[in-house]
Amino acid sequence: MSEAPSSGTPYPYDAPASQALFDRAATVTPGGVNSPVRAFRAVGGTPRFMVSGTGPWLTDADGREYVDLVCSWGPMILGHSHPEVVAAVQDAVSRGTSFGTPGEGEVALAEEMVDRIEPLEQVRLVSSGTEATMSAIRLARGFTQRSKVIKFAGCYHGHVDSLLAAAGSGVATFALPDTPGVTGAQAGDTIVLPYNDLESVHEAFHRYPGEIACVITEASPGNMGVVPPQPGFNEGLKDACRKNGALYISDEVMTGFRTSRAGWYGVDGVKPDLMTFGKVMGGGFPAAAFGGRADVMAHLAPAGPVYQAGTLSGNPVATAAGLAQLRLLDQAAYDKIDAVSETVQSLVTEALTKEGVAHRLQNASNMFSVFFLDRDVRNYEDAKRQESFRFTAFFHAMLEQGVYLPPSSFESWFVSTAHDERAVQRIADALPAAARAAAEATAA
Ligand SMILES: *Cc1c(COP(=O)(O)O)cnc(C)c1O
Repeated sequence: MSEAPSSGTPYPYDAPASQALFDRAATVTPGGVNSPVRAFRAVGGTPRFMVSGTGPWLTDADGREYVDLVCSWGPMILGHSHPEVVAAVQDAVSRGTSFGTPGEGEVALAEEMVDRIEPLEQVRLVSSGTEATMSAIRLARGFTQRSKVIKFAGCYHGHVDSLLAAAGSGVATFALPDTPGVTGAQAGDTIVLPYNDLESVHEAFHRYPGEIACVITEASPGNMGVVPPQPGFNEGLKDACRKNGALYISDEVMTGFRTSRAGWYGVDGVKPDLMTFGKVMGGGFPAAAFGGRADVMAHLAPAGPVYQAGTLSGNPVATAAGLAQLRLLDQAAYDKIDAVSETVQSLVTEALTKEGVAHRLQNASNMFSVFFLDRDVRNYEDAKRQESFRFTAFFHAMLEQGVYLPPSSFESWFVSTAHDERAVQRIADALPAAARAAAEATAA
């Protein structure tokens, strides 16, 4: 891992206020950030400290305005400061911020989710996607009374100890094969398989009869860049689980309420036993969930023996934000997001093609990302073959021109209902120079 780039960065440096904040941050926080990929280490340069957001726009500490194609890594699907979401939050805050008792808001949010997703019979609210996947795995193990878990290389399920083996997202970015602090015992029951490879799943079930509690997969992966499941892959996972008495866990933390009204389930219709959610359902607040089959969820405390809890779970402010956001996400909203996404995707491909840059633009509904290489990406091994140095040049050229992309080539790009003509025009105007920069980039 490289040192934190500071004033000596080879990239255009014109963010003095962000740099000053970053220097202050680095004194009190490891690496100056509270989540690794925010630090720009994959692309270099000074991470931009944002001070406000409205619709598709972000404003940084230096007063520069950017079109936001990160959307807080997915949650801000209506854009920033949506008036109705803000009003719902203000209303909730004015009535108190946490009671540590049950409340109606969490019931209403759970009802809205269950109503949208047929296999979701019951949900338990938590505060982060990590907590959701961690709890779902515990429940699957408790329910099946088995230990082993299958996960796929390049899929990220939060920083759960047992799932931090060949994870995507920040871990892929830093090419860490694993992380110190996770013991052999914690990782020892995790079987990591190549994504989109059903044969290896069948082999694993054959090798460990009666030992595999569950298969967990991103419903459609977005944490190694966007790598959708091949036709029949999710269905094959579900069938293999059913046949072998294991649970099929679909991690919809990223895709949930993003790729359709019913998330990725609404796209491929494959019925999981358990599902996990976060990001969009929290409306920009820490709210997440796991749920699924009622007979499995019945094993959770206090109904059953598998323990799980949270002081701030179902927080009234977070649930008010999430519910307000979900209620605004009708079919018209998804149509709009899909249309903007398609427009941006074609603009990107057009600009890169014009400059003769080898690339693959991959999408899963309105989630998409660009790989700088000349073949389709079906798994993490393929994704790692991309020419990331071209992304670095492309990223900085876009940033310079006021377009904020995810600061890593292993991440999905996100748009919102608020991405209007002016925002799209800014992207279109920035692309030719960024494509040229990608074409001219050379490996370090
Ligand atoms: C973001 C993400 C998580 C982790 O959620 P956090 O809220 O960051 O803990 C888990 N799974 C997937 C698929 C994600 O994209």
